[in-house]
Amino acid sequence: MTNSSLNISIKNVTKTYDQFHALKDISLEINSGEFMTLLGPSGSGKTTLLMVLAGFTNPDYGSVKFGEEEVILKPPHLRGIGMVFQNYALFPHMSVEQNVGYPQKLRGVSVTETKRSVEEALETVKLAGLGHRGVDELSGGQRQRVALARAIVFKPKILLMDEPLSALDKKLREEMQIELRQLHDTLNMTTVYVTHDQKEALTMSDRITVINDGELMQLGTPNEIYEYPSNNFIADFIGESSLLPVIVRNGVVHFDGAEIKLSTSPKTDGEFFLVVRPEKVFITIENSDDVNKFEGVLLDSIFQGESQLLVVKLKSMSEDEVVLRVRVPNGSVTQAVLPSAGQQLIIGLRVADSYLVS
Ligand code: ADP
Ligand code: MG
Repeated sequence: MTNSSLNISIKNVTKTYDQFHALKDISLEINSGEFMTLLGPSGSGKTTLLMVLAGFTNPDYGSVKFGEEEVILKPPHLRGIGMVFQNYALFPHMSVEQNVGYPQKLRGVSVTETKRSVEEALETVKLAGLGHRGVDELSGGQRQRVALARAIVFKPKILLMDEPLSALDKKLREEMQIELRQLHDTLNMTTVYVTHDQKEALTMSDRITVINDGELMQLGTPNEIYEYPSNNFIADFIGESSLLPVIVRNGVVHFDGAEIKLSTSPKTDGEFFLVVRPEKVFITIENSDDVNKFEGVLLDSIFQGESQLLVVKLKSMSEDEVVLRVRVPNGSVTQAVLPSAGQQLIIGLRVADSYLVS
């Protein structure tokens, strides 16, 4: 089952509810065949944007093109999209195959072709043989698969999904992330996927659009978003990080009086944050020009299975307490000789890993 896909071009999309700006002048290009994730906290406008693409919400202003075609005035059922809603929106009184075949029925597809495409879709989502079941006889994970089968039954060029895994438990969710991504690669659709879960976004996406308060904050590959967040909101929201307040004067970075070295010196003076990821810092005793060092005291050491998390309070002249987190992989050399709470230690961060945000 292979589909041809379409690129999506979103320009200046704006949506207000009374005085409230749910979407503020959103523009972005989604490539044909791309897995694009809209990521943001609850209430940031992700569903609103997805519903604008689907045609269920009319923006006040803006343009949405699928390929060359402007679709902003087209009703949802004429847009040729597959859609998986957050709550699945299955018809409870219908069987699995009736649910999956419903879009075909709406489109006036013949009974024989509907039966064939339903079987194919159920096989694709690994539900072959369950067509006669009632929806209420299925587990949460199976219902999610029915919703997916219904979305892909007519081989749409564009698939939209709104937090499709949020109701599943962690283990199943993580398995389904891999499976959905593989399905995307097999079916070759353009996929727009909504989640508030940053790890899920990093795992599944070709590129991620970060949205906050109805505003597009950053668009990039998972690697770009994680390694080079464009501001402190994203640095904090994606992955774990400690944000150390620093001051830049004449291109030199200072934290608590001491100089912090960067691989490229900052272009503007002012107040910034040094982004410190727990996996990028380490306990050190050596002196090296390639490493920025911070003195601190160990507050807490927490066993988390695959790693040990150290909570370190930095020595600081200011009133505000600055805390760094250090992740030590389980089984590493460092783990065997960890300091205990109350002990002094020196934390290293490579100059190459030292990155500032505003
Ligand atoms: P998300 O999916 O990122 O959690 P939504 O797109 O659902 O966010 O909502 C964004 C904001 O718009 C929220 O503050 C929400 O309360 C508001 N909103 C969404 N739909 C409506 C509506 N029909 N009427 C009024 N406000 C709405
Ligand atoms: Mg939502």
